[in-house]
Amino acid sequence: MTNSIDDFNDILSPDETLAPHTWIKLGGAAERFYVPTSREQLISLVQCCAASEIPVRILGGGSNLLVGDAGVQGAVIQVREPLLGDISIDAETVVAGGGALLSHVVSESVRNGLAGLENLVGIPGTIGGAVVGNAGGRHGDIGEFVTSVEVVNHRGEVTVRSGDELTFSYRNSSISDLLVLSVTLTLKPDDSDDLATRMKKIWIMKRATQPLADQSAGCIFRNPRGLSAGALIEQCGLKDLAVGGARISDRHANFVVTESGATCADVTALIEKVQSAVNEKFGVELELEITRW
Ligand SMILES: Cc1cc2nc3c(=O)[nH]c(=O)nc-3n(C[C@H](O)[C@H](O)[C@H](O)COP(=O)(O)OP(=O)(O)OC[C@H]3O[C@@H](n4cnc5c(N)ncnc54)[C@H](O)[C@@H]3O)c2cc1C
Repeated sequence: MTNSIDDFNDILSPDETLAPHTWIKLGGAAERFYVPTSREQLISLVQCCAASEIPVRILGGGSNLLVGDAGVQGAVIQVREPLLGDISIDAETVVAGGGALLSHVVSESVRNGLAGLENLVGIPGTIGGAVVGNAGGRHGDIGEFVTSVEVVNHRGEVTVRSGDELTFSYRNSSISDLLVLSVTLTLKPDDSDDLATRMKKIWIMKRATQPLADQSAGCIFRNPRGLSAGALIEQCGLKDLAVGGARISDRHANFVVTESGATCADVTALIEKVQSAVNEKFGVELELEITRW
């Protein structure tokens, strides 16, 4: 029997405010906010939204998102553990559900003596979000370890993408499907104690240079080719520049941090000030790294 959209009312929160679901703690309401409890229910919900012509957005950990103060129309489906949170390891292959927190996939891999992901310690959010945006940093990006992804398209059809259909570039991937159901990664065997030590060192360095305890959405701007967005902003003397409750972090100039009472409009105004100052001084147009809804 096919489902109707009303069959999902028990997992629906109408007009749910998105701010608490994001790391930067900003944003208005989602018209329909769904928290599915199983993979089957998730896929069936996507199919029903398609049949009812309801636009769908996927929310992972909310660590790379800036939601407008007016919120969003249509459906927001939360995909994070316990939904799609399974992680299984067989020899050098790790298979993780798209809702598994990246931190859990990293620690499980390290515990099992598999190298590669320890470089990604300290990156919040889910592995689904990480793979779509090829999350990473100075020690490497997740894409180099991903061998295939199982995805759902906007019609609710499940496909596996690998090889030429799956490419990664700086904070970007070729995945244009609606949602990542699972990710298969191939890692290299190594000593788990050595990996844990390396992970700890990277974590200490990150904690010393990034405002990890503040409300933020990570780096706001992409690094222009061969340049550091943070360094350009700092050289414009913009550290600590504030608009309303939004401020350029004094610890890392590519982070906008917010206080209670801040609005998305404050962040947007701050972003525009930074973009025009950097453009004026260096002739460089800073592009956003965060996703805007
Ligand atoms: C303190 C802090 C530090 C950070 N450090 C780093 C860093 O070092 N390197 C780095 O690259 N990033 C960093 N980030 C940004 C962020 O953590 C990553 O981009 C992360 O991978 C986003 O995952 P998420 O689940 O939170 O995605 P969300 O913020 O929920 O969503 C981001 C985008 O991914 C999509 N998405 C989420 N889940 C899925 C899914 N299952 N299937 C399909 N699409 C999906 C959403 O629709 C949206 O378009 C940092 C952020 C913070 C707050």
